[in-house]
Amino acid sequence: MTQRISDQGVGITSPNKVQHTDPFADDPKVSASVLDVAGVFVVVLDPTGRITYFNVTCEHATGYTAKEMVGTYVWDKLIVPEQRQAVENVFHDLVRQPGVQEHENYWLTNSGKLICIHWSNTSILGTGGEVRWVIGTGLDITEKKRVQNQLEEQAAKLRAVVETAVDGIITIDERGIIESVNPAAERLFAYPADELIGMNISTLMPAPYREEHDRYISDYLDSGDAKIIGIGREVRGLSRDGRIFPINLVVSEVSLPGKRLFTGIVRDISDRQLIEKRERQRLAEHAHAARLAALGEMASGIAHELNQPLAAIVSFADACRNLIDKEEIPRDIMRDALAQISEQGVRAGDIIRRLRQFVRTGTLDREVVNLNALINDVLAMVAHEIHLNEVDVKLRLKEYLSSVWADKLQIEQVLLNLVRNAIEAMEDSPKHGLLIESTEDDNQMLVRIQDSGCGLETAPENLFKAFYTTKEKGTGLGLSISYSIIEAHGGTLSANSNDDGGATFWFSLPAADDIE
Ligand code: ADP
Repeated sequence: MTQRISDQGVGITSPNKVQHTDPFADDPKVSASVLDVAGVFVVVLDPTGRITYFNVTCEHATGYTAKEMVGTYVWDKLIVPEQRQAVENVFHDLVRQPGVQEHENYWLTNSGKLICIHWSNTSILGTGGEVRWVIGTGLDITEKKRVQNQLEEQAAKLRAVVETAVDGIITIDERGIIESVNPAAERLFAYPADELIGMNISTLMPAPYREEHDRYISDYLDSGDAKIIGIGREVRGLSRDGRIFPINLVVSEVSLPGKRLFTGIVRDISDRQLIEKRERQRLAEHAHAARLAALGEMASGIAHELNQPLAAIVSFADACRNLIDKEEIPRDIMRDALAQISEQGVRAGDIIRRLRQFVRTGTLDREVVNLNALINDVLAMVAHEIHLNEVDVKLRLKEYLSSVWADKLQIEQVLLNLVRNAIEAMEDSPKHGLLIESTEDDNQMLVRIQDSGCGLETAPENLFKAFYTTKEKGTGLGLSISYSIIEAHGGTLSANSNDDGGATFWFSLPAADDIE
């Protein structure tokens, strides 16, 4: 806004005349007291840029007196050399094109200190429309600027850390909508930042983690119960190209005035899990091979041991047959022979029982195990077979499933055996559907594996007997060992044929906190 004031009554026209003189002394509307208002810099320049008025605030702040300054160009002493040109330009613009302009610049004080001032400059016109003065009013913003620079510096440092972080960093609002991502998050999920921003975070997770995550946040907002805040959790990530990979997610809350944000730090742990998986596979294979080798030795020992009672049974039975043919049957001898047959039969049974005991697991190496996670691990292990056999896997896993107190490796073997059996049973079947469910009932965790394969060829109880197999190269030991493992954990393993074809196997295990 351009101001127009009367020519008469303007006290200052000569630069040398003044010190603390009110330039508008004769004008009742503008008084010296206004111009000397505490804390506000007021400088009046003539159209050439020479100072005609320099108020008390200016004097105090710069250490120069008005007497020294009046008549000098503002940019001579006060403006730092780097800003001189810019200040001159602002001034000349205001003379050429009268108006109001705001700008910031530094003044160099008499003692060599720099003060930053926010200026509002106004051209004052005479009656002929020409610019008579330019009045600058300013506020010292040195401290504000220092804080602002410090904040900008901190923000720049933080930005550098976030930009170069190896972990993905994602900020979401209360509804789970992504507000910002770093380059690592873009790489991890194979989405460009502009696509990620505005998307719901759950899009980056496959089921059941997707629903779980939404629920976690809304539960937290409702109850303050932090199931995920500050705690690292292993979940699965889903990239744009459909790749599902294990991630470690740590969520923290950022409270801003009137706004709540969550920051998620996401680490791809595929490599770590792959190494662990390979190690587990190696251990499992090792255990399997060791069991088979020991079984081979045991079998020849058992064959030898069994031979004796069987040979004894045969010879006592032959003796009985001969005795029966006699006219006079020697009852005492017959009774003895039959007693021997029964005794040898019991002995043979003992040998068989020992075999079963051997197959049964030894001591259990228990830990807290989440069956849902184990199911996912096992599916990852058989991913290749699933792909080759074009099996359509459906998961119906219960959220917040309680943990069990189990030997992880052994339960993994059971699951692996059940899933592999299911895949094999579907090899010649027209339908290749595999449904895996986890549920919880009365402190028992239940896992069901339902296939659409050939179905059971015998009564379910026969399946769990050692050496029952319908496969050319089967051992018939998988289910009997699985049965023993589940039994040793205090659970049960059962099977059934489905009404519409295929078979279902299920096992139960007690909840971890239910075990004394
Ligand atoms: P193997 O797989 O070496 O035969 P198992 O003890 O694991 O040993 O299985 C025993 C038998 O149980 C199999 O040969 C098969 O006849 C039957 N069986 C197991 N799982 C299934 C299934 N999902 N569908 C139909 N039959 C099955």
